[in-house]
Amino acid sequence: MSGARLEPERIARLQGFGLACAADAYVVRPTTVDEVRGVLDLACQTGRKVVLRGAGCSYGDASIAPEALALDCSAMNRILAWDPATGVIDAEAGVSIESLWRTALPDGWWPPVVSGTMMPTLAGALAMNIHGKNNSKAGTLGQHVLDLEVLDGAGRSHRLTPDDEAFRAVISGAGLLGVITRVKLQMHRVTSGNLQVTPVSVGNLDAQLATFDEFEGVDYRVSWVDCFARGARLGRGLFHAASHESQPNAASLRPESQDLPSKVLGVLPKSQVWRALRALNRPLWMSRVNWAKYAASRLHGDRRPFTQGLVAFSFLLDYVPDWRRAYLPGGFIQYQSFVPLAEARRVFRAQIEMQQKAGLVSFLGVIKRHRPDDFLFTHAVDGYSLALDFKVTPQAWPRLRELCWRMNDLVIEAGGRFYFAKDSTLRPQDVCAYLGEATLKRFRDFRAELDPHGLFTSALAERVGLLPD
Ligand SMILES: Cc1cc2nc3c(=O)[nH]c(=O)nc-3n(C[C@H](O)[C@H](O)[C@H](O)COP(=O)(O)OP(=O)(O)OC[C@H]3O[C@@H](n4cnc5c(N)ncnc54)[C@H](O)[C@@H]3O)c2cc1C
Repeated sequence: MSGARLEPERIARLQGFGLACAADAYVVRPTTVDEVRGVLDLACQTGRKVVLRGAGCSYGDASIAPEALALDCSAMNRILAWDPATGVIDAEAGVSIESLWRTALPDGWWPPVVSGTMMPTLAGALAMNIHGKNNSKAGTLGQHVLDLEVLDGAGRSHRLTPDDEAFRAVISGAGLLGVITRVKLQMHRVTSGNLQVTPVSVGNLDAQLATFDEFEGVDYRVSWVDCFARGARLGRGLFHAASHESQPNAASLRPESQDLPSKVLGVLPKSQVWRALRALNRPLWMSRVNWAKYAASRLHGDRRPFTQGLVAFSFLLDYVPDWRRAYLPGGFIQYQSFVPLAEARRVFRAQIEMQQKAGLVSFLGVIKRHRPDDFLFTHAVDGYSLALDFKVTPQAWPRLRELCWRMNDLVIEAGGRFYFAKDSTLRPQDVCAYLGEATLKRFRDFRAELDPHGLFTSALAERVGLLPD
């Protein structure tokens, strides 16, 4: 860092994962805690705000902010200590989920919670407090952290443990309460790198939720939804339950045995698949793709268990590099809402009907089962989430935003919640309604304590009214 000057060469365009939003910022990639402190000083001296960024896997605007200093932690990526006897890993903020499993799997450990991609950093994942397909069984990632180190907005270092109230605020706090610099995480014991997966083809939304109930207690549960299907078939899809294999299997613990194949269907190089997807990426074709996927599910969703590697099951979306480019030029947003058990069937049915009626059908729908947690900006409920991927075009954007707002009303009425990692459309009144005034006050109190100069920002925080003017 050179004095109190921001070099123009540092300016770069940062995007949300969905490629539907972007902002220019001064990007800095510190490699040590002292350098992070230097970036905070520089921000104070130059009058810039700071946006924290990991791998940029949040779908919307959570890790971008126009004209800010973007503090990208991905170069702080050293594993500081690994204990194969206890499964405790001590890592810098920018260590990726991929690096976690590659380090631990040979010794028979797996990250306790992972997202649908292995790219996120530990700090980015904790700032959102990610959930996995095992949310109802294992909770969120934050529930497996033993302690973490945080640099606050005044450059003071804090070591936080689950006994500290600030622990549950920084985790889930969307990068607005301090820079997570180091994490000690308890990994999950496994004796095999494989899962036993049971696929079930489900004919409608009622069957979806009944199948989740039927497989209660299983390690992982997730279901794909064909959002084009209507009437009695509305909500049809393919459910998967998966359990860790109990038989010891040393060969499957080798990272090489987990690597995803380089070709799709044995012929098409993975790097080219997004081009094929892009050609199909319009409603008529996607309705056929969804139909074909469901038809195929009738054949192989026959409840016969099969064996699948942890990586292939957990990170399905990483099979196709750059798949998001299929949505270019406008990109896409993901709309994910979390609805309590008693209301989920009604709300999801209404949401699927509303998107069909608006002529803006999601190309991909996913249902998961969740359980509540006590982190400050928790998104989870004792219920289900439905995630819907919507293509963005300039013409459709106003209608799409309006659709999301109408769907929000239903979720809020039902006592549901939202997730900043996935959000692109929430308004201040929506956030106020689902988080509640008491939570927002606690957040403001934490801000006053941990970010007295008001350094930390993000486009999301500005949009949803989390920061004072
Ligand atoms: C294909 C795909 C599948 C996904 N599946 C899931 C899923 O199954 N479950 C789930 O929960 N999420 C899922 N996600 C979302 C993703 O896990 C989260 O958005 C996660 O936060 C991304 O981490 P990141 O390192 O990319 O951080 P970014 O997206 O860059 O940032 C996320 C947040 O972390 C903050 N931040 C970054 N670094 C720090 C730091 N050092 N200290 C404090 N705050 C910081 C940022 O300001 C921002 O608010 C998925 C995303 C993708 C692209």
